[in-house]
Amino acid sequence: MGLSEFALIERIRARAAGRDDVLLGIGDDAALLQPPAGQALAVSTDTLNLGVHFSADVVPADLGWKALAVNLSDLAAMAATPAWATLSLSLPTPDAAWLDGFLDGLLALATAQGVAVVGGDTTHGPLSISLTVIGFVPADQALRRDGAGVGDGVWISGTTGDAAAALALGDAAPAALRERLHRPTPRLALGRALRGIASACIDISDGLIADLGHLLVASGVGAELCIADLPISPALRALDDPRRLDWQLAGGDDYELCFSVPAAQEAALAARLGEFDVAPARIGRIVAGSGCRVLDAEGRPLPLARAGYDHFERR
Ligand code: ADP
Ligand code: MG
Repeated sequence: MGLSEFALIERIRARAAGRDDVLLGIGDDAALLQPPAGQALAVSTDTLNLGVHFSADVVPADLGWKALAVNLSDLAAMAATPAWATLSLSLPTPDAAWLDGFLDGLLALATAQGVAVVGGDTTHGPLSISLTVIGFVPADQALRRDGAGVGDGVWISGTTGDAAAALALGDAAPAALRERLHRPTPRLALGRALRGIASACIDISDGLIADLGHLLVASGVGAELCIADLPISPALRALDDPRRLDWQLAGGDDYELCFSVPAAQEAALAARLGEFDVAPARIGRIVAGSGCRVLDAEGRPLPLARAGYDHFERR
């Protein structure tokens, strides 16, 4: 069924849950939001384009989930608590069934994380979804990229490479891997728990090495990783594919957190590990200098085939 722009917006408004701090949500020229006293706003935007970030056969509910998840992952990496989101939709055809499915996925995650959709924009054009998320964090407790110090441990949450394997293998990929590609879990609780513990943090969207690289540049340090310490999911291990390590290091779409922890904070981190459904693991250390060296199980440096995903890289 085709819908008018007004009917599309009304369909979104009818399903969007509120929050006490949303003074005025969808329907006026702008939303009115009441930020909490004493906290900074953490604001982040991410766009998903058909053909670049997802293919035409993606299930609309998965797309809705992922569009919000990738944005919330950025707030997780700042140790922020998400509150509000705006949704900008460019649609080739105003299809009610597509929109309902898309909202099923998006609102399932929004509800689970207490996020209110407070506005957006709806236009006609190639399929593209852009979300802005806004959250709160005490300014001095936000986890930035620039705080890593020499001697800190390098940690990651969960496992990497699963989504890249699912993308490469398509329908042949095991369900556990496809779930990781289509329904990533933003590590919000972990990010918040790292306040006062991590010295720097980033979320992994473009590949572990590439995103850790951004943290290293921002902090003016280098890192040494040991592949023997790199966590791997049972499903990825079971594949026994020669591309496995490449996926783990450079695949992308992981939405795990990579963070540095000073030695003095490791006990505080250990005391909190049991709180999370995802276990962080120490995969290396921050060293003086620049760049990331990856060592094999015998401590020999590994040549890296591909550092990560760059949209404007010549291919
Ligand atoms: P305007 O022309 O004043 O920009 P719009 O017609 O674009 O108004 O939007 C009307 C209202 O609907 C606004 O409150 C806007 O935030 C909201 N809105 C529009 N598109 C979306 C969307 N895709 N998701 C959520 N809210 C939307
Ligand atoms: Mg508008």
